[in-house]
Amino acid sequence: MSDGMKGPVVIVGASHAGFQLAASLRQHGYDGPVFLVGDEPALPYQRPPLSKDYLDGKIGFDMVVMRPEAFFRDHRIEFLQGARVTAIDRAARHVQLDVGERLAYGHLALATGARNRVPPLPGVELDGVCYLRTLAETHDLRDRLAAADHIVVIGAGFIGLEFAAVARAKGKQVHIVELTDRVMSRVASVPTSHFFAAAYRAAGAAFSFGAQAVRIAGQGGRVDHVELASGERLPADLVLVSVGVVPNGELAAAAGLAVANGIVVDAQLATADPLISAIGDCASFPCVHFEGQPARLESVQNAADHARCVADRLVGKPQSYSALPWFWSEQGKLRLQIAGLTTGHDHHVLRGDFEAGSFSVFCYKHGRLLGIESVNRPADHAHARRLLAAGRQVSPQQAGDASFDLRAAAAARPG
Ligand SMILES: Cc1cc2nc3c(=O)[nH]c(=O)nc-3n(C[C@H](O)[C@H](O)[C@H](O)COP(=O)(O)OP(=O)(O)OC[C@H]3O[C@@H](n4cnc5c(N)ncnc54)[C@H](O)[C@@H]3O)c2cc1C
Repeated sequence: MSDGMKGPVVIVGASHAGFQLAASLRQHGYDGPVFLVGDEPALPYQRPPLSKDYLDGKIGFDMVVMRPEAFFRDHRIEFLQGARVTAIDRAARHVQLDVGERLAYGHLALATGARNRVPPLPGVELDGVCYLRTLAETHDLRDRLAAADHIVVIGAGFIGLEFAAVARAKGKQVHIVELTDRVMSRVASVPTSHFFAAAYRAAGAAFSFGAQAVRIAGQGGRVDHVELASGERLPADLVLVSVGVVPNGELAAAAGLAVANGIVVDAQLATADPLISAIGDCASFPCVHFEGQPARLESVQNAADHARCVADRLVGKPQSYSALPWFWSEQGKLRLQIAGLTTGHDHHVLRGDFEAGSFSVFCYKHGRLLGIESVNRPADHAHARRLLAAGRQVSPQQAGDASFDLRAAAAARPG
């Protein structure tokens, strides 16, 4: 434990970030009390399978849960299931729980994550309009999916597309509505977007790009169709709204901490109050892989590595957060893996076989390699992570040269 750090560690939010922090504290030898407070009515579970194999019914909850109940007991992690922190009293150094209790903290970690963004659309309250973030929402969606025929997905990001892949594989009619001109436009390069859109079309899904849903219309309280700004009406007995998330920063803001697209933290993931950290989807941090600019990332890697970084600090090994961001998405038989942050790239180079669906896109800005997207090329992704984490560069010419040894470049010793 770092000098001056007294009392229990209280963690608010028991998902990827919160759970990992509790586990890492014990792994790193922290011996004091650890409270993990989570407002969902379940043991901490992994979210990625919710839009993939768990939604599809291919795996059970035992494959989704992070650890069985015994883990918490054995590691003396006090897990408060179904409990919500409603306020932070920084002067008194305690948090208030909705169940009436107060918890004193020596250090407070906010791992409150994010929640579904609900668009201001008439009809969002209709029966049959769904979201996909929590276990409860997944169960509801799975039941409804079995009975649905015509599905409209609003938003062609990762979650909307992953859901569409599962729904299409079950033979459902799927129409995806997207405001921008391509799928995954926030996170993927143009070739990757085009490749995925073509794959969905080939699988029988339909798209409306540059299209705005303006109303969800119902009959007898149930969804009936989605109306677009163009006037087009898309029949629907199930609508998935997947238009991004809102970081849960209200608790921090009410306690006087800065919140700007996430809870603002420094390079060590501490807020302006050194006794309070923020990690995972809820945290906006200066990202060394984004030219030091504030970033708020939504990935398992980010949540888990943030947690490890704070655990290190709390056991007296402070360091700046510098882990390389990486991400994956599984859409049917297609696996997309991204190393680095490619946002803002001005040039790309293709490597591999685009037509055959096994390729990587090297993304550059002003000639500097920012990141690499790989589609069904896991070896490229593994090399990309090593390469970028070590701060090495591969020129556009090298990237496009099939005979260039990416593995050797990733493994090369510096200097
Ligand atoms: C369907 C789906 C699929 C995904 N697939 C992938 C993928 O393939 N790869 C990938 O890298 N990432 C994926 N992600 C993203 C990844 O799951 C998130 O980045 C990750 O869950 C972030 O973890 P977190 O702990 O920061 O926040 P969250 O997972 O949002 O968890 C925060 C938790 O805190 C709780 N909470 C909030 N406020 C309070 C409070 N006041 N008191 C108590 N509890 C509170 C919330 O209810 C929630 O349980 C996916 C996400 C979803 C939803």
